[in-house]
Amino acid sequence: MSSSSDLFARALQLIPGGVNSPVRAFRSVGGTPFFTKEARGATLITADGRELIDFVGTWGPAIHGHNHPRIKAAIAAALEHGTSFGTPNPYEVEMAELIVRFVPSIKKVRMCNSGTEATMSAIRLARGFTKRDKIIKFSGCYHGHSDSLLIKAGSGALTHGNPDSAGVPVAFAQETVVLPYNDVPALTAAFAANPGKIACVIVEPYCGNVGFIMPDAGYLAQLRAACTANGALLIFDEVMTGFRIAKGGVQERENIVPDLTCLGKIIGGGLPVGAFGGRADVMDYLAPLGPVYQAGTLSGNPLAMAAGIASLRLLEELNPYARLDQLGRQLSAAVLAAAKAKGLPAQVPQCGSMFSIFFTATPVRDYATALTGDAKLFARFFHACLAQGVYLAPSAYEAGFISTAHEGAAIDRACEVLANGIKGL
Ligand SMILES: *Cc1c(COP(=O)(O)O)cnc(C)c1O
Repeated sequence: MSSSSDLFARALQLIPGGVNSPVRAFRSVGGTPFFTKEARGATLITADGRELIDFVGTWGPAIHGHNHPRIKAAIAAALEHGTSFGTPNPYEVEMAELIVRFVPSIKKVRMCNSGTEATMSAIRLARGFTKRDKIIKFSGCYHGHSDSLLIKAGSGALTHGNPDSAGVPVAFAQETVVLPYNDVPALTAAFAANPGKIACVIVEPYCGNVGFIMPDAGYLAQLRAACTANGALLIFDEVMTGFRIAKGGVQERENIVPDLTCLGKIIGGGLPVGAFGGRADVMDYLAPLGPVYQAGTLSGNPLAMAAGIASLRLLEELNPYARLDQLGRQLSAAVLAAAKAKGLPAQVPQCGSMFSIFFTATPVRDYATALTGDAKLFARFFHACLAQGVYLAPSAYEAGFISTAHEGAAIDRACEVLANGIKGL
């Protein structure tokens, strides 16, 4: 078996930067990435044979831990019947029924293959439905890598010091109004400056791609009210928070009804899946019923549906949210106590199984305050933890994810390692 360094050397010859998604390259923390040959429960096993306690969870999907036996069995059972049909299949119906049960604001839903497809299609749908072109997004919110949305888009772009990607036409960017998150006056001003022009507001209701940031009390309700008052659709991008913050996502926890919701990550149980859904009158604008085109060769793929269905059923059965929140609290308390003992300013926003660690004295409530976090110090902390067997996301601007598989020894050990990491800074 090749080592991580051998594999990376080979990858660098053929794959740009050696990776198929930029943040995996460790550019913001330095060093070279490890390769994973196997993952189970809370553990990654590297190509070099190291076992790491994983808080990346394949960037969100692995809420039940890696390679959960029930999800594995569901994929294996589906595999017996074929890998793709190109016709409607029974799994798609079961998935749609589960989604509308979990997320009541969703009356109709369309499956796709990634979170990026979900947000891109939801935006097109909002534009088609409202017959308006402009959209509002918030700096630091990431909604995948489609053109209109890759503007001030959080971690990946931040890490590379290049918030606006080359290759996005200026004319596209001009249709995207970017505002600070948690800033109601800025929102009101943007609507006033663009009367009758805003198709939708898209938001990560809890931000997870600039580190983890929660809204001020009442902020999401203000977003809802402003959209309603101005005839714009409110799109919650819950690709990361859906099924994670609560069974019904942030909208359940905050009691807000968006017009459209984007889903991904957990909904695929570790296979590539996305979905978007919401109001029936809006969703009926999609082809073949309506004029907004959206399609996918592998959309509703039976293996991906089977994995996602198993993942959602497990959530329904286990209702793990209170337990996950306890694990999250344990972790954030350990980090804060260690930082205090060291006299190091730190913010550890946490809700349920999402958290992040910012080394700053400034409370983090938006993109600008997230940037006050000491990224160099985070890089040293990251490597100290990795050396001791704990894998945090390799960027100061990513959320951490806890799974049910962390309960017990893994979380206790991780708290110890994180505390030691801070002590050694
Ligand atoms: C991950 C993510 C996306 C993009 O999903 P992909 O499956 O990577 O395309 C979109 N929105 C949010 C909030 C995400 O966290």
